[in-house]
Amino acid sequence: MGTSNSGSQSTQVLIIGSGPTGLLLAQGLKKSGIKAIVFERYDEDKIASYSRDWNFGLHWGHDSLVAMLPSELADKLKDTQTDPTLEPHDDDTLPFKHGETGDIILRIPTGKFIRYTRSKLLNLLKQGIDLRCGKELTNIRYGDARSVIAEFGDGTAATGQLLVGADGTRSAVRKLLLGPKAEPRRLPYTAVWTQKTGFSREQAIQLRQWNPQHMAGVHPAGMFMFHGMQDVPDLEDPTQWKYFFYISWPSSIEWQDSAKDFTSEQWLAEGRKRASMCCDPWPIDFGSLADDHPMWHIFMSDWDPSAEGCKWDTHDGRVTLAGDAAHSITFQRGQGLNHSLQDVVNLWKEIIACLGPNAYCTQADAIARYEEEMVARTGAETKMCTMNTHMLHDWSKVQQSPVFKRGVARA
Ligand SMILES: Cc1cc2nc3c(=O)[nH]c(=O)nc-3n(C[C@H](O)[C@H](O)[C@H](O)COP(=O)(O)OP(=O)(O)OC[C@H]3O[C@@H](n4cnc5c(N)ncnc54)[C@H](O)[C@@H]3O)c2cc1C
Repeated sequence: MGTSNSGSQSTQVLIIGSGPTGLLLAQGLKKSGIKAIVFERYDEDKIASYSRDWNFGLHWGHDSLVAMLPSELADKLKDTQTDPTLEPHDDDTLPFKHGETGDIILRIPTGKFIRYTRSKLLNLLKQGIDLRCGKELTNIRYGDARSVIAEFGDGTAATGQLLVGADGTRSAVRKLLLGPKAEPRRLPYTAVWTQKTGFSREQAIQLRQWNPQHMAGVHPAGMFMFHGMQDVPDLEDPTQWKYFFYISWPSSIEWQDSAKDFTSEQWLAEGRKRASMCCDPWPIDFGSLADDHPMWHIFMSDWDPSAEGCKWDTHDGRVTLAGDAAHSITFQRGQGLNHSLQDVVNLWKEIIACLGPNAYCTQADAIARYEEEMVARTGAETKMCTMNTHMLHDWSKVQQSPVFKRGVARA
């Protein structure tokens, strides 16, 4: 078995996964002079195109993003917003529509709210870090008292002092640590989503009228809908604006099993059928799509790190999890990335405490401290967001849902 870091003793942190969690952690560690390598399963071409793209809203977690970046990258963050011309304000809101009548039923106060286009943000976060692509983690071994070895599908391996699983909802690291307990819990909801550019000038302007960033809807038939900006390359040319939209609905696990091999055309039909029951903008969104427009779907799931039997062995602080690998949080309350970035800042502090130039504690203690806080914080959030998902898809409970009652404040 070869070693992709040539057995270098200097590599301290092996980060698995080049999503926002892994890349931001690498940026923070680089700033602090700690050598880290990020390993990504996909090859460079695939991650450069990010064809399965979406956007995410940062609100209470935004400071974490800025704190980890060198100033030359932090200065460019604005370019990666869905609409780089927008300035966040303390009185920003997320409007919610009645999905049938189109009335705005609530404007949820969100505080400063910034939406980033995932592909643009990741391309920024990749800059200047040691990223190895085409490296799918398949196994972890523990060497002498201070080392951990990551093994990859291409037959190579890498050695470091700490391995961080930042490999998303279906984390291979989590599976290696917990076996069947690592499996996300399936939830009875399905979402279908896509992005579209090339609306006519008039339509593009009409679609932006309710809010320049985003809008949600709840439908008496139990649907949740979202519509927002994905990219504004030129504010003056609405025909270039790209929109992102989705609809989610209750669907039994049996139905999900029967739909797992649906084609993109079938997912489009599912979306169109439901959009036709809704108020604008969803019939405009889904009605504008060509029959061969690429569609994506999600069978929703969660994973709660505080659930019984989900505590993993850190092997004396040599392995841990962060981001969606550590907690899979449903997305209707927009918390997953905010918590992931909080993980990054907290873990970064603990890595400095045990591996930095002025290290003052053992790795086992530092990782235990990080995990204790992270598991409590994100366990509570996972539960609250799953409850929120149930309530948003049940018309009789929508008004009592966490997002209606608490907005996007963290659990
Ligand atoms: C439609 C949608 C809307 C959302 N909206 C919001 C929002 O408004 N606000 C918010 O806070 N959050 C939101 N989220 C959640 C947010 O996107 C996630 O929390 C965030 O992307 C987690 O980042 P991550 O880096 O932890 O994981 P990921 O982004 O999943 O990255 C994991 C990386 O690991 C790689 N990988 C996986 N397995 C391996 C392996 N074995 N070896 C090597 N590499 C591997 C993957 O290829 C990937 O690059 C939303 C999510 C979705 C789907």
